[in-house]
Amino acid sequence: MSKDVGSKILKRKRLERFDTDVLIVGAGPVGLTLAMDLAWRGVQVSVAELRHRGEPPNVKCNHVSARSMEIFRRLGVAAALRNAGLPADYPNDVSYRTTATGVELARIAIPSRADRYTDRSGPDGWWPTAEPPHRINQIYLEPVLFAHAEAMPGLRILNRTEVEGFVQDDAGVTATLRDLETGEKRQITARYLVGCDGGKSEIRKAIGAKLHGDAVVQKVQSTFIRAPSLLGLMKEKPAWATFSANPRRCGNMYAIDGRETWLIHNYLRPGEDDFESVDRDQCIRFILGVELDFTYEVISKEDWIGRRLVADRFRDRRAFICGDASHLWVPMAGYGMNAGIADAMNLSWQMAAELKGWAAPEILDAYEAERQPITEQVSHFAMNHAIALGKQRAAVPDDIEMPGAEGDVARAQFGRQLYELNVNQYCCGGLNFGYFYDKSPIIAYDGEQAPAYTLADFTASTVPGCRTPHVRLCDGRSLYDALGPDYTLLRFDRAIDVGALVSAAAACNVPLAVLDVDTDDKDWSGIYQEKLVLSRPDQHVAWRGDALPPDPQQLVDLIRGAGPGRRERQAA
Ligand SMILES: Cc1cc2nc3c(=O)[nH]c(=O)nc-3n(C[C@H](O)[C@H](O)[C@H](O)COP(=O)(O)OP(=O)(O)OC[C@H]3O[C@@H](n4cnc5c(N)ncnc54)[C@H](O)[C@@H]3O)c2cc1C
Repeated sequence: MSKDVGSKILKRKRLERFDTDVLIVGAGPVGLTLAMDLAWRGVQVSVAELRHRGEPPNVKCNHVSARSMEIFRRLGVAAALRNAGLPADYPNDVSYRTTATGVELARIAIPSRADRYTDRSGPDGWWPTAEPPHRINQIYLEPVLFAHAEAMPGLRILNRTEVEGFVQDDAGVTATLRDLETGEKRQITARYLVGCDGGKSEIRKAIGAKLHGDAVVQKVQSTFIRAPSLLGLMKEKPAWATFSANPRRCGNMYAIDGRETWLIHNYLRPGEDDFESVDRDQCIRFILGVELDFTYEVISKEDWIGRRLVADRFRDRRAFICGDASHLWVPMAGYGMNAGIADAMNLSWQMAAELKGWAAPEILDAYEAERQPITEQVSHFAMNHAIALGKQRAAVPDDIEMPGAEGDVARAQFGRQLYELNVNQYCCGGLNFGYFYDKSPIIAYDGEQAPAYTLADFTASTVPGCRTPHVRLCDGRSLYDALGPDYTLLRFDRAIDVGALVSAAAACNVPLAVLDVDTDDKDWSGIYQEKLVLSRPDQHVAWRGDALPPDPQQLVDLIRGAGPGRRERQAA
């Protein structure tokens, strides 16, 4: 029987018994990304979502990381996303001022989307990626993701549908769905269920996971406004994010449509515990630097509490949690959604591999083992940054707005401090590319420690567990565009016979492509020191060496979750 016939039979058998392979609860950015990636891998997926079809989310996230854009590129939706949001020539810079209409103290240069692929002069211009970050609000991002997802074969979105609960057994999950228009209830069966149902996740509670960490890091009174005259009042070039630092009130403002809509964050001070006890209008005027004759319309109030919470488990047998359902932290460095998208990428290929039959069920143990420590670490990066920013806000010099030379000195000095602290969060290379999986049951470690990373900095590396280093191939393509959807063995020396590994993979139906890497990228040889590097479906290194391992079958078993740990776990 051929492999194709085998996998078709497997699929038919599954669908005879289950309504769908995977049921995702929640069509936020994380649920949609997971659904798209699973469908792209040939998995049947259904997504239940409370909201109406086309109903936008709250105006929250404004930054899509380079790493997320790499994922969207592979899914074929990066170009559509890049073309949405702010006008193409609207500056994506971050500007620090006394007030939004006041004097500029510092500016972090980030190219507008028209120049994003070509302008490498800014502090994130050195990043080794084909997809730089993108500044776009969630209200524009989600409809693009939704339209792309909805058009994919094998992917069904059930709007106005609430997942009320589920039960599971060894074979699958049965969930109860309620139609929010008619009140009608029905059941749906799936092999797996994934809760991408946000911070208040009911799925998290149902799997018995508890959030641990810091319940309150920062309270923020946020207001989404329409103010058509604001751009005209600015003395400085507009920016995507505009921070105000003055002794009356510090806050910031994100440009949403680049014309008249803005999201204003008023960072409450210690002791300001109740959102409504703080004069919203007065604070907005302090942040903008405008008087009572300035008019604006409140579109919505978006107050939120920044936390640092990570779930103590991401899974109970066939039910998983992903994204805000499993971790919540202050959106410093803009990395809440982006971390959730990274969760989705990690879980998706492992789940698809198990469903397609080439991985052992134990492969799914890697999800929590890999993602939980990373999200814990990112939560600390974000919280530490939020605390440092709080201290900086409290240290705004009294003479920051003083006219003349004395004020100039204060402004220049504080501007430097603002730049130095904040360039790290707005150009967070470490969060994008530096994280590595160091205690995974499906990675073949070789004793070398992965390079440490910070919020902003990282060192590209082939140490197993790291992100597969990105290079440009001789034909100009991004390495990532040449990788297969599953495992890819990168070979830097065509003389090495890799037949034994290819055969071992084929024997277990593990999809493995071999890519002979031809690159004249100056930097690659320092990074790719080994002649063979095995890149996982999520572009992390699974193994490397100058020759095949003595027992290629052992390596194949390890990377498909059927390694020695499996036998030990089964014996236990
Ligand atoms: C002010 C602010 C700024 C932010 N900025 C950034 C940023 O710049 N970058 C960044 O990465 N992150 C940012 N974040 C965080 C980001 O908004 C979240 O991390 C992201 O929305 C999480 O996505 P999600 O899909 O996990 O959850 P959500 O976006 O919360 O989506 C969950 C979905 O599940 C649905 N749902 C819930 N329960 C059920 C149910 N029982 N049945 C069916 N459907 C259900 C909901 O309707 C919702 O659509 C910010 C957050 C805030 C508050």
